[in-house]
Amino acid sequence: MRVTLMGTSGWMPSDQRETTCFGCCAGESLFIFDAGTGLRRLREPAQAALLDGARDVHLFLTHYHLDHVCGLAYLPGVLPGRALVIHAPAAELTGVDPERALAGLLRRPYNPRDWEDLADLRLEPVVAGANEIAGHIVRVRAQRHSDVSVAYRVDDAFVLATDTRADPATAELAEGVGLLLHETWYNAADPRTDETQEELRAGYAAHSEVGAVAGLAADAGVGRLVLMHLNPLYDESYYASMEAAARAVFPRSDVLPDGAVVDTEGVA
Ligand SMILES: [Zn+2]
Ligand SMILES: [Zn+2]
Repeated sequence: MRVTLMGTSGWMPSDQRETTCFGCCAGESLFIFDAGTGLRRLREPAQAALLDGARDVHLFLTHYHLDHVCGLAYLPGVLPGRALVIHAPAAELTGVDPERALAGLLRRPYNPRDWEDLADLRLEPVVAGANEIAGHIVRVRAQRHSDVSVAYRVDDAFVLATDTRADPATAELAEGVGLLLHETWYNAADPRTDETQEELRAGYAAHSEVGAVAGLAADAGVGRLVLMHLNPLYDESYYASMEAAARAVFPRSDVLPDGAVVDTEGVA
């Protein structure tokens, strides 16, 4: 499988990085993870090609924080005429009813059409453990964040874990996959972290420190670690210091630009 990075920032987009969105061709299906501002990249030729030959399109949501769902407003523009299946966590995972949550987001006056009137959308909630979707096994686990989020594992190809504290259970979920895409919010060893305003750092407890993330990748024995959901309070030089800190623990770690395509196989 090949995963296209369409949005690698968290919270706010920057000139270089959109908020969370990843695409991958899974046989004849296109799987998209999160609908951050990066969903708009489906209108760029390189990423529009993901739709060529895709018989059906599935959008998996990790949680409902706005940096992960604001792209739902773009759907008519980025997937014109396409039916879409949205997979959001079932209520027993998060305490949030997915239909109510989505209907609350997609309704007037916030969106020109109500959720109920979007005929090309269908909701199929995912449950904890294994879900069979379009011929693939998609495993789901709840994570600790400021509101509950979920991690996804697709076959033995990759795990996507964002908006979570670094958690040893993620290493269990990711055991032996080719690629771990994991959020990385800060580097405790970089002095710029302590220089960040204290009220902003309060939110860091709901996110992951890079050394801990690299440790999870090593414990899980993944092929490769890609750091994502990068903190927009910092710049590319800070991300380079995070990459170096990750590599000191797990050498096959990278920070990659939006638009990069990562193969989940063939990594030694
Ligand atoms: Zn986020
Ligand atoms: Zn979040």
